[in-house]
Amino acid sequence: MRPFIYQKAIDASAAIRALATPVGSNNSSIEASIQPLAGGTTLIDLMKLDVMRPAGLIDINPLAGEWSQINLEGGNLKLGALARMSDVADHPQVQRSYPVVAEALKLAASPQLRNMATLGGNVMQRTRCTYFRDVSYANCNKRNPGSGCAAMDGFNRTHAVLGTSDACIATYPGDFAQALVALDATVEITGKSGVRSMPFAQLHKPPGNSPQIETTLRPGELISGFAIHGRWPRSIYLKTRDRQSYEFALASAAVALDIRDGTVRDARVALGGIATVPWRAREAEALLKGRRLDDGLAQRVAEAALAGATARKHNGFKIDLGKRVVAHALQRAAMMEI
Ligand code: FAD
Ligand code: SF4
Repeated sequence: MRPFIYQKAIDASAAIRALATPVGSNNSSIEASIQPLAGGTTLIDLMKLDVMRPAGLIDINPLAGEWSQINLEGGNLKLGALARMSDVADHPQVQRSYPVVAEALKLAASPQLRNMATLGGNVMQRTRCTYFRDVSYANCNKRNPGSGCAAMDGFNRTHAVLGTSDACIATYPGDFAQALVALDATVEITGKSGVRSMPFAQLHKPPGNSPQIETTLRPGELISGFAIHGRWPRSIYLKTRDRQSYEFALASAAVALDIRDGTVRDARVALGGIATVPWRAREAEALLKGRRLDDGLAQRVAEAALAGATARKHNGFKIDLGKRVVAHALQRAAMMEI
């Protein structure tokens, strides 16, 4: 591990000032930069692997007093970026009014990791692409811009089938982000010019020609929280993976339905494990609105959700798996007793 400077933020403005210190670029993992440290459960791993080489870490945990709220007042959910995954997953009102959020968090990582890991760190985690995480592979456009992509002709079983580019096919690995995208969450961002908020769906950038630029966060900005408007008691997160726990998704679906008198009034479908960014399937959702949900419709929605998917040598199974996950999640959500 390379030497780095460690600082503890005394408050948000000190953290922002430290992050804005111009030491290299925040957009490249390989260049020196100051990185915020939250739970450290993925950042420290990447530093040990020599994938991320920050010149310094600014520990933002002292901001937990301000940034770890779990607030359900006024029919909305507000979550602080430093709330721990386990605290949100175990919160009885979150489980009741936003089961998709609680389940997405509960099905991620392990209990020990969830106790340490924060929501902000979770959405900012980086791909698990083996070629990205192992610096002995020279060709990785995300880690080493312009070097090529070893996964294209390599072993790409876990890689993405949606949202890919000629430069990168890495899968976005997290679970919680799918729930946020499905429920039209907003993300609150704190920077040197104050606080701004934007749709969470605009946070992650598809790889395009610049896969090293993964988010729309500006240098020196921090995620301070998330907000979800309205309640979604009929919602579910379904995750398939190579083993039952402690594993990333091969295909997952975050589904939320508003069904009245047997008719779907509103529907949300987001996919994980198969796309380069948290993936909202809006065209598939449109098929549901105003209709009664039966097995045939669930199947058609699933087909639409995966339309446009492109398989590589080893990951074609994800297209069929993704369809099954979407159809099954819809059927289970429709059967929920709320
Ligand atoms: P950190 O490691 O502290 O930070 C992660 C990144 O986010 C860093 O780049 C950091 O600079 C940045 N960051 C942190 N906070 C902020 C902020 N407020 N604003 C801006 N940037 C910030 N996750 C899943 O979703 N599903 C899984 O199945 C899953 N399985 C896992 C299995 C293993 C073995 C491991 C090690 C991890 C797994 N994870 C999984 C990932 C885990 O959930 C993340 O490591 C964790 O959520 C990261 O949170 P953290 O607070 O520890 O982030
Ligand atoms: Fe790198 Fe992306 Fe290719 Fe993986 S898929 S090797 S992260 S460029």
